[in-house]
Amino acid sequence: MSTNRQTETPMVEITDVHKRFGNLEVLKGINLTVPLGKIISIIGPSGSGKSTLLRSVNHLEVIDSGTITLDGVAVNRPDIKGLAFERHINHIRQNMGMVFQHFNLFPHLSTLDNVTLAPRKLKKMDKKIARELGMELLDRVGLADKADVFPAWLSGGQKQRVAIARALAMQPKVMLFDEATSALDPELVEEVNQVMQSLAKDHMTMLIVTHEMGFARDVSSWAMFMDGGVVVEENTPDKLFTAPDQERTQNFLRKHL
Ligand code: ADP
Ligand code: MG
Repeated sequence: MSTNRQTETPMVEITDVHKRFGNLEVLKGINLTVPLGKIISIIGPSGSGKSTLLRSVNHLEVIDSGTITLDGVAVNRPDIKGLAFERHINHIRQNMGMVFQHFNLFPHLSTLDNVTLAPRKLKKMDKKIARELGMELLDRVGLADKADVFPAWLSGGQKQRVAIARALAMQPKVMLFDEATSALDPELVEEVNQVMQSLAKDHMTMLIVTHEMGFARDVSSWAMFMDGGVVVEENTPDKLFTAPDQERTQNFLRKHL
């Protein structure tokens, strides 16, 4: 798992990012690199800024200062406005697949149509080709037999697997997961973790926020502990989860392992 971090290609690069909501500074100078093909996990207590950080990568939150790049391209472009910025950010977002705690599937579309909507609309993909791609992705998450079913008929674990298939449909350069399993009943967590594990095996670049320490330890190339808007400590998962240096990390893990 350990690698020479200097020689890796950065897919997402976050440099000295600050974000405040009114008087509350939520991100206080975050630095983080997600190298191509690697899996970075972020852990930390509720309210530490993990979701804000992930949302900032996707420009769902606008950062106050610092830089975020995707494959070398700046996400924030205060120098361009209006339609030009819309085009820029849509292009960036098409290269990022985001999976949230709540699945946000389109309730009026079948699972297959949920998966194929973006490539059909945004890439103008032919209906038949989109259908083939959609079926391949549903098969990949173990749901080929649910192609014509509406989301309301699926379990939480199945919904989340559809959400992952949908995020993959645009062939993103990176997948962002924000507590993808924390809304699921415990018995449904494993099936979603398995899909994420299989993406890891295929060298998908991933940035994962999770409250599941065991999963983070197994799947990650690098793990970070955030608290109070700062990265308190980061290391290989073996080191971070078994012998953290910082007292704040030790206290957190004592409660959560
Ligand atoms: P985490 O995901 O680690 O639980 P969040 O990034 O969701 O943390 O939140 C970090 C802090 O920012 C919290 O104190 C939260 O209440 C605050 N916060 C998040 N979003 C907003 C918002 N849109 N407006 C005001 N405060 C917010
Ligand atoms: Mg959160």
